[in-house]
Amino acid sequence: MKIYNYTDLSKSKIEELCSRQIEDDKLVESRVADIVKSVKTDGDKALFDFAKTFDKVELEKLFLDGAELKAIAATIPDEAKKAIDTAYENIKNFHLSQLKKEDKVETMPGVVCWRESRAIEKVGLYIPGGTAVLPSTFLMLATPALIAGCKEIIVCSPPQSDGKTNCYLAYCAVLLGIEKLFLIGGAQAVAAMAFGTESVPQVYKIFGPGNRYVTTAKTMVQNKVAIDMPAGPSEVLVIADETANPSFIAADLLAQAEHGTDSQAILVSTSNQIIAETLKEIESQLTILPRKEIAAKAIANSYAVLTKNLDEAMLFSNEYAPEHLILATENFESIIPLIVNAGSVFLGNLTPESVGDYASGTNHTLPTSGFAKAYSGVSTDAFLKKITFQHLSQEGLNNIGKTVEILAAAEGLEAHKNAVSIRIKN
Ligand code: NAD
Repeated sequence: MKIYNYTDLSKSKIEELCSRQIEDDKLVESRVADIVKSVKTDGDKALFDFAKTFDKVELEKLFLDGAELKAIAATIPDEAKKAIDTAYENIKNFHLSQLKKEDKVETMPGVVCWRESRAIEKVGLYIPGGTAVLPSTFLMLATPALIAGCKEIIVCSPPQSDGKTNCYLAYCAVLLGIEKLFLIGGAQAVAAMAFGTESVPQVYKIFGPGNRYVTTAKTMVQNKVAIDMPAGPSEVLVIADETANPSFIAADLLAQAEHGTDSQAILVSTSNQIIAETLKEIESQLTILPRKEIAAKAIANSYAVLTKNLDEAMLFSNEYAPEHLILATENFESIIPLIVNAGSVFLGNLTPESVGDYASGTNHTLPTSGFAKAYSGVSTDAFLKKITFQHLSQEGLNNIGKTVEILAAAEGLEAHKNAVSIRIKN
């Protein structure tokens, strides 16, 4: 892990450090474009072929039905079942609290405007399952979709080597009342949900994180469907001062690094000593991790930045716009107001990112690659559309009429003006 001194960094070097562009982006793009095209033209046949090529499995059918899911779910260990139930309750409660009815506003006497939410009818959820199957993502996406009231929820996840899914994902499906799980991974799953195939229904919006193939495909199909956000390889930025605990920081950085070799784990600290001790801790904690090869590669692509103070650390963090931001300092209250760009924030030394990944209640599907500058993470709102309504009484028409007539005339739109005038004259 390289160490930089913030004061020595030029503007262009900061830009370079904050950029997550990976050299072979063009190669991924052209591969994904081919996959999307094949699914569009060949439908299910392409999906069977890609399962063979990328997931190394010959599928008999592209989905598991309710009975098959129940049978697999029954094999879940009791302890895991309880943990999923607890996480689900917290996620449900947090996302339920986001359902808010808005007030009607009388903008002028007799002119009343308001917004009402309606669920997106058909949504597609992608649950990653390449290097690790993520039942937590199933909970994070399907729970708000159900709370929002989405009628059709299509779920795709890569098939495992036995051509099925594991007991955790199956249990989530049963718990959430999802009766079909499509065994489709990668860009082909995104394309299938965007364009529809013989087996996979077309949806209006696609949600979910994934590797670069998944994220690139989501970006590519945007002229056909909406997407939640580009949620790609995971990343964390930890801001630490001398009140932080290096072994906790190392654990948090490694938790991110084990996601994938292209994950980033960035440490920004006001203390040289904390950086040095954290690096030592990383070395020792790495040795016992089952996914140490993956984590070691991600750590090698990551770096630390030494700053003069926490304000400077926040400047760097806002430029990086991390998916996860951990404030490993007892002084977190003072820097919360300085946070401008971040997906989800973890405060103090006792709040590991893992709790948000799994069970505290907040959503773990978050914008990566600097998109936290413009996007929010998934929430109940993401599954809703807000429709505006307005109603004018005679008094309202009289009050607002002249204003609209003048503005319509100024824009040369006589028919617009007339739609008001004809009512006033009447
Ligand atoms: P994945 O399900 O995203 O991808 C697996 C699929 O990728 C396979 O089914 C296959 O079809 C496809 N694939 C693999 N190699 C390919 C190739 N050479 N060409 C074309 N397609 C290929 O699972 P994963 O790979 O484990 O990645 C999960 C990702 O999700 C990680 O990068 C992780 O960091 C990220 N993640 C992000 C968030 C977030 O909120 N941003 C949350 C959880 C996970």
